[in-house]
Amino acid sequence: MHIAMIGAGYVGLVSATCFADFGHDVVCIDKDPDRLNALRQGKIPIFEPGLEDLAKSNAEAGRLRFGDDVGKAARGADIVFLAVGTPSRHGDGYADLTFVYEAARDIAPHLAGFTVVVTKSTVPVGTGDEVERIIRDANPAAEFTVVSNPEFLREGSAIEDFKRPDRIIVGTDDTRAQAIMEDVYRPLGANNTPVLFVDRRTAELTKYASNAFLAMKITFINEMADLCERVGADVLGVARGMGMDARIGNRFLDAGPGYGGSCFPKDSTALTNMAQDSDSPLRLVETTVAINDQRRRAMARKVIRACGGRVRGRRIGILGLTFKPGTDDMREAPSIPIIRTLLDAGAVIRAYDPAANAAAHHTLREIEICDDPYDVAQDAIGLAVITEWEEFKSLDLERLGRQMDPMSNVLVDLRNMFDPAEVSKAGLTYEAVGRGNLNRASEAIKFAAE
Ligand code: NAD
Repeated sequence: MHIAMIGAGYVGLVSATCFADFGHDVVCIDKDPDRLNALRQGKIPIFEPGLEDLAKSNAEAGRLRFGDDVGKAARGADIVFLAVGTPSRHGDGYADLTFVYEAARDIAPHLAGFTVVVTKSTVPVGTGDEVERIIRDANPAAEFTVVSNPEFLREGSAIEDFKRPDRIIVGTDDTRAQAIMEDVYRPLGANNTPVLFVDRRTAELTKYASNAFLAMKITFINEMADLCERVGADVLGVARGMGMDARIGNRFLDAGPGYGGSCFPKDSTALTNMAQDSDSPLRLVETTVAINDQRRRAMARKVIRACGGRVRGRRIGILGLTFKPGTDDMREAPSIPIIRTLLDAGAVIRAYDPAANAAAHHTLREIEICDDPYDVAQDAIGLAVITEWEEFKSLDLERLGRQMDPMSNVLVDLRNMFDPAEVSKAGLTYEAVGRGNLNRASEAIKFAAE
């Protein structure tokens, strides 16, 4: 199967590499010359575990190529995937479809033979109709069909997610396209991955509904964490108990500083706008968006309170900047509004992230970025963990404590990743999220081993 992948970002690059690894012939097209230069030299411009080696082996096997000749790629393709960005439109939160429509216009004159054009980008309901219209207007003789095949991979585990997804959603009523989509994903049959065929609009909405639901689940446990703090309960126990119910499930029940990243925030807002415009407002999702927006500043206030209430001119150290571990993506990371709020309060910020130090230099110019987590602690009155990078678990807490201001050494663990007893043993004051039970010292809840 010959595949053209338009867009070499997180989704395009991972999809192109994995399709090549399935044995397909893949050309991946991008407009960004720097990105293309890097890719042609075997350098992967994003941080994604395992991607560089997989791309390299498939490029060496001749199944994966990178280029900017969209005409050639589209002409030779059985399937053209559109995997370009759909960012939040500045000012109103609608999905900006400029890149999708531009890509449709780019490929339209070059389609040759029956071609399946697939929107892999997350797009509002009806976008497939517009892509179809654009191609038909530009090339009335083209033989093609537009299919929706939203992507559900997560940054940080993208290859595993792509190769072992919970499901593949394909939106089309065209039987020829169905057969081709079955062929392209056939290697996943070995993993018993279900492929759900629905109509195009249903597929488009399913992606938004899934992301909004997960955002809501995170927001639910975050509010529950606040209640736990008030009533002396432990959100870890509540989440664990809830998650044992198969109807609820235990994932996305980790209380923390609010969801972020390149998808949940923009997709939830785009969905609520779409729903409003359809006279069918989604009030649960609207409330989720509002709560999450407020949460980041609330987390900054929590840090300030834990540091004694006055932080003007005092140092606060930040551990972790990305919106989650395993990525260098800083888009909509909770660290940004949290740090800005701390800066507004007059704090002096030093930060460390295992992957995003370079990206953070651009996003957060007002802070000092350190190459060593222990430098972050130097003379700080408090440390806040914002991203739960695995490597933080092996930090020498006593050493961190020794670096800190002798009058105040608070560790504010916004991801509940540390054992409170270990932190106290190291001489640090511990503050977590939703662990109201810690105030009742003798009643720490013990869980059975994981
Ligand atoms: P991205 O911004 O990382 O990458 C998009 C790429 O497309 C860029 O490299 C850009 O240069 C390129 N591009 C734009 N217009 C082009 C054109 N006309 N021709 C060629 N290249 C073009 O975006 P992403 O994170 O990969 O997201 C892509 C889509 O997938 C979005 O709709 C997003 O919501 C969705 N999605 C993202 C994730 C994720 O984790 N990042 C997961 C699931 C779905």
